[in-house]
Amino acid sequence: MFSRLYLHIPFCRAKCPYCAFVSQESRGGPGGYADLLLDEMRLAARGCTPAKPLESVYFGGGTPSLLEPGDTARLIARAAETVGLSATAEVTLEANPGTVDQERLAGFRNAGVNRLSLGVQSFDDTMLATLGRIHTAQEARDAFAAARQAGFTDIGIDLIHALPGQTPEMWRSDLEQALLLAPEHISVYGLAVEEGTPFDERYPDDSPLLAGQDLAADVFEKAHDLLTGRGYEHYEIANYALPGHRSRHNSGYWQRDGYLGLGAGAHSFLRDAGFGTRFGNAADLDGYAAAIGRGVLPRRDVTLLSREDAMAEHMFLGLRMADGVGFDRFEREFGVAPEALYGRVFEELAAMGLLERDETAVRLTLRGWLLSNRVLGRFLP
Ligand code: SF4
Repeated sequence: MFSRLYLHIPFCRAKCPYCAFVSQESRGGPGGYADLLLDEMRLAARGCTPAKPLESVYFGGGTPSLLEPGDTARLIARAAETVGLSATAEVTLEANPGTVDQERLAGFRNAGVNRLSLGVQSFDDTMLATLGRIHTAQEARDAFAAARQAGFTDIGIDLIHALPGQTPEMWRSDLEQALLLAPEHISVYGLAVEEGTPFDERYPDDSPLLAGQDLAADVFEKAHDLLTGRGYEHYEIANYALPGHRSRHNSGYWQRDGYLGLGAGAHSFLRDAGFGTRFGNAADLDGYAAAIGRGVLPRRDVTLLSREDAMAEHMFLGLRMADGVGFDRFEREFGVAPEALYGRVFEELAAMGLLERDETAVRLTLRGWLLSNRVLGRFLP
């Protein structure tokens, strides 16, 4: 069962040298890819049961804003027909500022997209050039203004910190400039130098240009203080939202809601069998297209979760959120109180100031979030 739909658009104008996402350079855009997604949706809808009308649809990538607005409309309409779409569904499209103008944005809005996630990454042109982005800071501001003009009232901005050569002052300036636009949502990610990317070769671990990574704690706290001071809720490790504007789709991931992923390289989590099934689609476009052409779902790595896997996931995904893990929901789902399983871990982490509990839930402190890689690892089976 699933109540959320993810559509992966694995195309970008140019490949950014830090990127490890499934995407390929395509100057001509996605071409007939939307038809493959429509076919996959039809095939997938036969074999699995939506829990209820979709609560969210998310176009991620890659660069979904390379889709034609008309194709976006067809995909949303087909999802409504084959799966069902709640009247209040959140429909998000990730947009690269270098690929949109007011006309295209209005087209997406008319297609049924009601939330835009704008990949700004930085407001510093030097940093944008280092990242290999196809847009300038001004183009990002223009795209934001155009989105407002096109009627979007729910816009998120993504920023990256710990960039090569970035100082704490530059990071603060990025945050300040994002705030000037007054977006409803701000995501702040630390740069991860991923294996196999050009950045991996360019910036070895000891590169002095990555000194910003040593400032991670400072940078994390700076963002927290500045953004919460301006009314944003720090509702997940990397995510801030004005009240009422949390990403419902992404919150579903952290709450282990079922979701169906369509497209090359998309991942799915269905809640039908036991404690859930996870799988991914073929990431190579040719293999994906060939499977769809044969009328076969291109699924790989199908994993049935055990009760232990599911409990661990519930903990380490739930603790990413400010709301933490509610005791009642955990007990309802697994028939055991979290205290009975993790009581000793809770005690240790609480004594270190990394976790706090009340009668209803357990959650990480800000320091716990800062050290989340180590802390969340304590809940692995
Ligand atoms: S635009 Fe996004 S998905 Fe595309 S290459 Fe750059 S970082 Fe990766």
